[in-house]
Amino acid sequence: MGPVSTPVVTPRPPPAPTGPELPMASQPAVPFLEIETLRAREFLPAAKEALSAMVQEQAQGKLIRPVFNWAGRNSLFPLHWGLACCAIEFAAAFGARWDAERFGVLPRSSPRQSDLLIVNGTVTWKVAHKLITLYEQMPEPKWVIAMGNCATGGGPFRTAYSVVPGVNKLVPVDVYIAGCPPRPEALLDGILTLETLIRERGE
Ligand code: SF4
Repeated sequence: MGPVSTPVVTPRPPPAPTGPELPMASQPAVPFLEIETLRAREFLPAAKEALSAMVQEQAQGKLIRPVFNWAGRNSLFPLHWGLACCAIEFAAAFGARWDAERFGVLPRSSPRQSDLLIVNGTVTWKVAHKLITLYEQMPEPKWVIAMGNCATGGGPFRTAYSVVPGVNKLVPVDVYIAGCPPRPEALLDGILTLETLIRERGE
């Protein structure tokens, strides 16, 4: 009899990996608290931004805008210029007797520092484009007063080929003052009317 061969026992290979274990229904993969934190991180900045925008809007509408409105209408800066005879009355309104500056109205020589255009005389087609340029150089908000019959509708020269029949053909007019020429008191009344308009419009 030959030698008895010992049987070779091959060890069984370990079971193949089956992937990560599935979480139990009662045990979420990501803790609930962590999900809430992640949500809060995304939500809070957006909510904060929306809230700040809302507060800013409210502040502008309810707090800042009325202050600007009050300051603007009590410190109107008309452009310092003159077109025709009405300009003499315009000048007189700022003299010692009528003293328009007590209403905070102060003529400025640059349209870039003016918010009120007082058209104080006959507007010819030749000067029309200059008037429009000056108006466009003024910052917003801005207003226009047509002082006298010429600025309002051409006045005694309304049929002349060279005269603009009303400055509203060139720029939007807020207040019209009748007269040929209107007296300085009428100009002051027009300015006070404009202040009332600005208050009512809330500009
Ligand atoms: S309204 Fe009369 S005063 Fe004034 S610019 Fe015309 S003509 Fe002259």
